[in-house]
Amino acid sequence: MSVQAQHILIAGGGMVGLSLALLLHEQLPDSARITLVEGRALPAPGDAQTGYHPAFDARSTALSYSTATLYRELGLWTSLLPGLAPINQIHVSRRGRFGSSLLSSAEQGWDALGWVVENPCLGRTLLAAAHDCPRLTLRCPDRVTDAKPLGPGVQVSLAEEKIEADLLVIADGAESILREKLGFLTQRKTYGQSALIANLAFEKDHEGCAYERFTATGPLALLPLPPSEQAPHRMALVWTLAQVEAAAMELAEVEVFSRTLIDTFGYRLGRVLRVGDRQSYPLALTEAVEQVRRGCVVLGNAAHALHPVAGQGFNLALRDAAALSHALAKAVDKGLETGDTAVLAQYAQDRQRDQAQTIAASDGLPALFMMTDPLLSLGRDLALSGMDMFPLLRREFVQQAAGMAALESRYA
Ligand SMILES: Cc1cc2nc3c(=O)[nH]c(=O)nc-3n(C[C@H](O)[C@H](O)[C@H](O)COP(=O)(O)OP(=O)(O)OC[C@H]3O[C@@H](n4cnc5c(N)ncnc54)[C@H](O)[C@@H]3O)c2cc1C
Repeated sequence: MSVQAQHILIAGGGMVGLSLALLLHEQLPDSARITLVEGRALPAPGDAQTGYHPAFDARSTALSYSTATLYRELGLWTSLLPGLAPINQIHVSRRGRFGSSLLSSAEQGWDALGWVVENPCLGRTLLAAAHDCPRLTLRCPDRVTDAKPLGPGVQVSLAEEKIEADLLVIADGAESILREKLGFLTQRKTYGQSALIANLAFEKDHEGCAYERFTATGPLALLPLPPSEQAPHRMALVWTLAQVEAAAMELAEVEVFSRTLIDTFGYRLGRVLRVGDRQSYPLALTEAVEQVRRGCVVLGNAAHALHPVAGQGFNLALRDAAALSHALAKAVDKGLETGDTAVLAQYAQDRQRDQAQTIAASDGLPALFMMTDPLLSLGRDLALSGMDMFPLLRREFVQQAAGMAALESRYA
């Protein structure tokens, strides 16, 4: 296949695979073909409801400033806006200890520190945009079952046929069967914890404030959601608990669940008025040690699935996707193949620092806040109070979490 007519096949149409398809469609020349293969049925264009899909379930996602910048560049922001709740403040505290910190968008001179979107809403927007891309072929439901090197490219096996591609992007999630099948080396660390999620309605307005409360069992986050007709003061809960506790809270009577939540979080938002569907996700850190190979890239949760404490997994993956699409567009421009080993190795090297820093932060944060050593925990509490006293320290923390420095370096 000629360099002008590159064919990129993405295995996995979750938030990362779909976003990458849109970025590639925007940045690669008209001659390039993109195929996205998704294993589970996604709704047809015009369907108001997504229905249940594991990648677009009842979870919500905190979008960082870097993600907002990328979606603005892709022209998706206006469609997303009605479903977004801006985060104007983040309140960080630890149960039963002194020391809390308030980070604010006003202090950064930004319109928001981040935005929260319900995953089905993000899914609908991404999918509608994908249906408008003439050079993007959606094969759904279908599955990528295997891949083998073929000449300079790859032969990809689907359920009932084989397709040739110049580059295969493996974006089939944390439990990636393709990554295992192709022998990409992976490291896995289980936390012995689960994240319990639910949408909640409170008595009081959140006023754009997100809460991160560290407790002896793990962090509890409440993220602002836009109002609905039934509930004006909605928040998305992500509560890290030991696996047995999470299972018990998932099944507990609503009154028991609400009382335990208020015992942990306090009455800042008044009473819990409604509790939506509860689901729990076992937590592990999974990292593909090798992310690129001739004709192959591992992306999204398949490359790194993180603890959700800092809300960074998707934001990091989107920065990877932006860097990859930029690197591929540059390669095609220079007459190189998209599966070229040197092009992919350079991409992996460019992404190493941001990935290492973000993974270390989301892995280290829960442990830091669960420390019982009195001296170390005093240091941590002082650091939290210190953050409140020193605007420069706060600014540095927020800039890092927003991912802007890492995003800006993509054009370096
Ligand atoms: C509780 C919780 C809260 C979170 N909150 C945040 C947050 O606030 N901010 C943030 O940045 N991140 C957050 N994350 C992380 C974020 O959800 C993930 O980073 C993101 O969902 C990864 O998307 P993905 O597309 O890589 O993988 P997935 O969502 O797993 O999608 C993979 C897709 O591949 C498909 N597939 C699988 N196998 C095949 C195959 N062989 N062929 C074709 N298709 C296949 C699947 O059907 C699926 O649609 C959170 C995670 C959790 C668990």
